Amino acid sequence: MKRLIFLLLVLASVAASAQEVICHRGYWDIEGSAQNSIRSLVKADSIGAWGSEFDVWMTADGVLVVNHDETFEGVTIETAKWKQLKDMRLKNGEPLPTLEQMLECGKSLKTRLIVEMKPHTNRGQEKKAAEKIVKMVKKMGLEDRVEYITFSYKGMIDLKKLAPEDTPVYYLNGELSPSQLEELGMAGIDYSMEVMRDHPQWIDEAHSLGMKVNVWTVNSDHDMEWCINYGVDFITTNAPERLQQLLEP
Ligand code: MG
Repeated sequence: MKRLIFLLLVLASVAASAQEVICHRGYWDIEGSAQNSIRSLVKADSIGAWGSEFDVWMTADGVLVVNHDETFEGVTIETAKWKQLKDMRLKNGEPLPTLEQMLECGKSLKTRLIVEMKPHTNRGQEKKAAEKIVKMVKKMGLEDRVEYITFSYKGMIDLKKLAPEDTPVYYLNGELSPSQLEELGMAGIDYSMEVMRDHPQWIDEAHSLGMKVNVWTVNSDHDMEWCINYGVDFITTNAPERLQQLLEP
């Protein structure tokens, strides 16, 4: 009986809302693409992914750069000047993109832009990065297409304060419960597979608070099925086409 009730709850939560695919660092695991490239954003859009995620750092002279690691080819982005980075190329030959270029490209696409602000070592610089990111999104007319995610607690508070009220902001770090985040005005949790396996009850907790659940980085069939069965709202993956197959009715 318990199992049946559980199954019905799972089915009800799945039926309640669509489950969406987010490409992790864009759709990069495909010919001609690269992580966090313009191409990876275009590819994510071309397969109809609901969203495409990318990572943002700010250089010492205030240029917002799209890259996952804190360094690119041995240069620490946070302490570098843009002129040290501007001629560098990604694995697919594209120049290292700026946030401005990424957003410019995103304007003509449909996929949602999931902007991850990286936690900067220099807190003052991180605060400026949050201000610049939100300002640029506004200038580009993309406020209703962007969601923010970050591992930085203070960065999350900044983004929530700076962005328009209905802009979703999610926390990545994994230690706060949905109700703690709800008090801070966040849209939901965006936690790793490992954290969610330890706290599956957070899915129902978030949903009962009207919040969403995003899980990363979900690459195996096993993990994808776990997320689908538990009613996870947004599944962030390096294998978006496989996930789309599994989500097909
Ligand atoms: Mg990221």
